[in-house]
Amino acid sequence: MFNTLNAMVLAVDAAEGAMACEVFAMKFPSLALAAVLTLALAIFAAPGWAAQEAPTPRDAWWYLEYQVSLGPRNPGSDGHSRLIRFLQEELGRLADRVLVQDFTYFHDGAAIPMRNVAGLFLPGPTADAAEAQTDTATAVAAAAARTSSQPTALPSAPYMLIGAHFDTRPMADWDPDPLKRSMPITGANDGGSGVAVLLELAGVLATRRPPFPVMLAFFDGEDFGTSTSTMFLGSRQFAAAINPADVMCMILLDMVGDADLTIYEEGYSVSRHPDLVSAIWEGAAALGHASVFRENVRHYVVDDHIPFMERGIPSIDIIDFDYPYWHTTADTIDKCSPDSLRIVRDVIIEAIFGGRVAALYAPR
Ligand SMILES: [Zn+2]
Repeated sequence: MFNTLNAMVLAVDAAEGAMACEVFAMKFPSLALAAVLTLALAIFAAPGWAAQEAPTPRDAWWYLEYQVSLGPRNPGSDGHSRLIRFLQEELGRLADRVLVQDFTYFHDGAAIPMRNVAGLFLPGPTADAAEAQTDTATAVAAAAARTSSQPTALPSAPYMLIGAHFDTRPMADWDPDPLKRSMPITGANDGGSGVAVLLELAGVLATRRPPFPVMLAFFDGEDFGTSTSTMFLGSRQFAAAINPADVMCMILLDMVGDADLTIYEEGYSVSRHPDLVSAIWEGAAALGHASVFRENVRHYVVDDHIPFMERGIPSIDIIDFDYPYWHTTADTIDKCSPDSLRIVRDVIIEAIFGGRVAALYAPR
């Protein structure tokens, strides 16, 4: 097997697109993202797109059920391409900007197309002002602004990046039944849960403007390979494409749907960015969730936050790694709970609006 990932990363570093990888960022990350943005707007501003459609509040559980209904979402599967289309549609409806990043991964001689998808939410009027502007004209203007075909620069203020992987594992390699170990997993918790929370957050941010720009990123290819060198494919591409100076911090959600939810501090996160971990965990405690968000380390997890850490961005992983169905065919929705998704949703809303995280990165 030819592992092209390192070659692709090198290509990014060298600003040479020698490989068949369409990384939209070679030398000038911000410009490259603007190019992606233009492409995305070209897709979503097409005539007939329902700009007037009122946002439909959909909660994380609805989004989890929807993903599971697609079947396995591993790269190359029908569920994978359908979920990508859905992510783009939902973000097109809810976000100010939609960004996509295509890349190709070569595995056993096959070219496997992958795509990261992200939605950007810009700060708006304060809550008081927003409440005062409830007339129809304002709503129509806001919808029109979202579908502008004019290329728009990324925000000048640093954005909070909140991510989750949307792909599911192509093989249930930890299944107790050896006959099932080559089957793709449903990934209700591993893959589905983080995406579900992020999509509900998209709906929240569409109506309640954040105090700073927020980007919700959906990573492909996290769970593709059998070793850390063949995993985290999308987050590596994404981290390579952005300008670290543009990012306030990065918060990763992974496996947050377990009905028996207990989230310990993740080891790499605490050792590298203890202030960020403390800010999030203090917020959770303030909401009454100290019994779920425990203030001690239990696991060191290599995950999608590491590529961002390596670029110098304060990054943490919110993960419940004590999940007996991890990488088995039993990672199904009956092991998850709406309450768990709601707790994590509320902790992230507190991270955005509660002021603790912003205070860490306020200009001095
Ligand atoms: Zn996994």
